[in-house]
Amino acid sequence: MDPFVFPGLTTRVIFGSGTLAQVGAEVERLGHSRVLVLSTEGQQADAEALSARLGALSAGVFAQAAMHTPVEVTQTALAAFKASSATAVVSLGGGSTTGLGKAIAIRTGADQVVIPTTYAGSEMTDILGETAGGQKTTRRDPGIRPEVVIYDVDLTLTLPPALTVTSALNAIAHAVEAFYATDRNPVITAMCREALPAFRDGLPMIARDPRDTEARSQVLYGAWLCSTALGYVSMALHHKLAHVLGGSFNTPHADTHAILLPHTAGFNGAAVPGLLAPVTEAFGTSPGAGLWDFASAVGAPLRLADLGLTEADLDRAADIAVQNPYANPRPFDRSAIRALLQDAWEGRRPA
Ligand code: NAD
Repeated sequence: MDPFVFPGLTTRVIFGSGTLAQVGAEVERLGHSRVLVLSTEGQQADAEALSARLGALSAGVFAQAAMHTPVEVTQTALAAFKASSATAVVSLGGGSTTGLGKAIAIRTGADQVVIPTTYAGSEMTDILGETAGGQKTTRRDPGIRPEVVIYDVDLTLTLPPALTVTSALNAIAHAVEAFYATDRNPVITAMCREALPAFRDGLPMIARDPRDTEARSQVLYGAWLCSTALGYVSMALHHKLAHVLGGSFNTPHADTHAILLPHTAGFNGAAVPGLLAPVTEAFGTSPGAGLWDFASAVGAPLRLADLGLTEADLDRAADIAVQNPYANPRPFDRSAIRALLQDAWEGRRPA
């Protein structure tokens, strides 16, 4: 067996149905008596209901979380946080809301209780991406990682079908890159191996019935496993390209991951087929073709062209993607990246 380092897991995780009822107890367990509840505008009603349920523990709701954590929103939220005399945040929502909670936590030392309602996987990580002046920067810091994560499957029943599919592929991308991470370890690899069938079997059931609690549980469980992978080992080419497209061309986060994944998995799978064997076992054929067939079967978007990108954008994206070197199992140059982006733009099935 190869030597490895397992960093340990620090976040307390509660998983189930109806677990939203435990938020108050978890806040008190962390030693807080006043929390600010965070959400997007779209999930404000759920956040208000949670705030009401928390009673005196709640200092109110801030419902302006936005994708890619714009610093202007963070400044407004910080003012609300300070004015409320809260000492912790409760983030109810997807990666955008979790991002806002992290941005407040790293600036104030506030504890975070996160209640994820998508499969994006920010909740288990020490990563924060923020946007200022059109530039997205990412940093890692132990102070960013949430203290408690409460998964309540009931909250995912309303996740729209399209976002269900793309968000799940976003999660699968964390597992795929964890299999070949330079700092991989057997615990995270085992978690990722467990995650793939959860998505493969759960997503088609959700497509038939979005309120199928058992299938939703399975997929949310997979999302937790993948979020843990994202939080504890390093990502490579796939996440780099998604970051370039999202950060510089403002493409939607989950769609971008979903479309790129078969192409990045196909590209790296050619170099490390053994490390990506769990992907082939779960989805068949080869990592790239298997994931493309699965994405196609569950109705995922397949073409970067459909996100409004032009071929000139691909040129610029390829330039940006090779500006700084980073670890990847298959060496690449600009022309390889450009060709990969072209395939993803056209929606071609990888070999
Ligand atoms: P999101 O949080 O923006 O959610 C998308 C939309 O769906 C929002 O309007 C939201 O209110 C709505 N929504 C969420 N859950 C819902 C539900 N259950 N029912 C109905 N509507 C619901 O999108 P996302 O894909 O979850 O997150 C993307 C953001 O997260 C990006 O900014 C990305 O960079 C960040 N992210 C960060 C990390 C990290 O580790 N730092 C990891 C993953 C994603």
